[in-house]
Amino acid sequence: MKNSLTFLTIMKTKTIAVLAGDGIGPEVMAQTLRVLKAIDDSFIIKNGLIGGAAYDVFNNHFPDETAQLCQDSDAVLFGSVGGPIDDAHLPKWHKCEANSLLALRQALGLNVNVRPSKLYKSLIAISPLKPELIEQGVDIMIIRELLGDIYFGEHKQFVDNGLRVATDVARYDEKQIEIAIHKGFQTAMSRNKKLTSVDKANVLDTSKLWRTIANEVAPQYPEVTLEHMLVDNCAMQLILNPAQFDTIVTANLFGDIISDAASALPGSLGLMPSASFSAEGFGLYEPSGGSAPDIANQNIANPTAQILSLALMLRYSFDMGQQATQIEDAIIHTLEAGYRTGDIYQKGNTKVGTIEFTDEVLKRL
Ligand code: NAD
Repeated sequence: MKNSLTFLTIMKTKTIAVLAGDGIGPEVMAQTLRVLKAIDDSFIIKNGLIGGAAYDVFNNHFPDETAQLCQDSDAVLFGSVGGPIDDAHLPKWHKCEANSLLALRQALGLNVNVRPSKLYKSLIAISPLKPELIEQGVDIMIIRELLGDIYFGEHKQFVDNGLRVATDVARYDEKQIEIAIHKGFQTAMSRNKKLTSVDKANVLDTSKLWRTIANEVAPQYPEVTLEHMLVDNCAMQLILNPAQFDTIVTANLFGDIISDAASALPGSLGLMPSASFSAEGFGLYEPSGGSAPDIANQNIANPTAQILSLALMLRYSFDMGQQATQIEDAIIHTLEAGYRTGDIYQKGNTKVGTIEFTDEVLKRL
């Protein structure tokens, strides 16, 4: 009995590194931690500084203390970093996102990003698409490779024959592609078993290799239907017929662009969570949007993206799918009851602040 109790205790005391960051980060994170406490208060929460908030204390956007805290934790719950775009020249904000979030992703070896794009029935009216295009609902999961492609190859500018020239090298090795493709198939397996692999295989060799690896991995997931789609067509289809997609897997550059396009479908960045994983399954969870300095410290930010990031964390890092669904349902019921923050407000709704929206979510947990 004692042994099983000890085992249970060990099982339950998981540590979460909480990096709230800048702008609306601390506000929406505070509300998200209320939701976590209501769902399960057994986690050890360790707060760390990152971005401008870390710069104020350490003169460094990503101090060693924060890196160590993340390495020692079971998952990272991230807010957002960065200051007003007009202040980007100031030392506190200069290269803040690259120095902190990108460095953190590299330090943790996070090589795939997972972004759900889900359109809530009660919010169809705020989607930029016509209702007839989305009446069947939209529920897409986009898997983006994060550590290869054109972002990490050599970037050069030079003069050739008197002309200014620039080159960016796109490079992929088969291992990098394989990790992303497996994540795509595994995600499709947990959903509707349809995977769309997006590339530009009619032109690019990196895409030809991508497609080859996707076809080689496919037999390991016989239940999943794999289709290939060129990225230009995918961009068009996301607008014309988004309901056709279930899970999409794609390279870093294409993923950057199409996941932002898909994130516009639900109507606000404040609704969009995301997760990034290492090959070993370590996860970092964060809203898809930025630090929104234009609305910070006014109790008007939408906490949904941060709260849904928590739900992803419970599902993927702690195998707590039931609690994750509880949180997601509470958000849906809050929206259906008409409570809205300013970014998704429409006439006839009840306009509430960040804290009051979370109060309503907590009532429905
Ligand atoms: P942003 O995503 O912060 O804001 C874009 C627009 O969306 C703004 O009008 C903002 O008010 C709104 N918005 C975003 N999240 C919202 C929420 N939860 N509720 C209501 N409205 C919300 O993008 P930006 O303005 O281009 O960038 C601001 C700062 O954020 C910059 O310093 C940028 O570098 C940084 N940034 C950080 C991340 C990150 O931490 N992952 C990502 C993108 C941008």
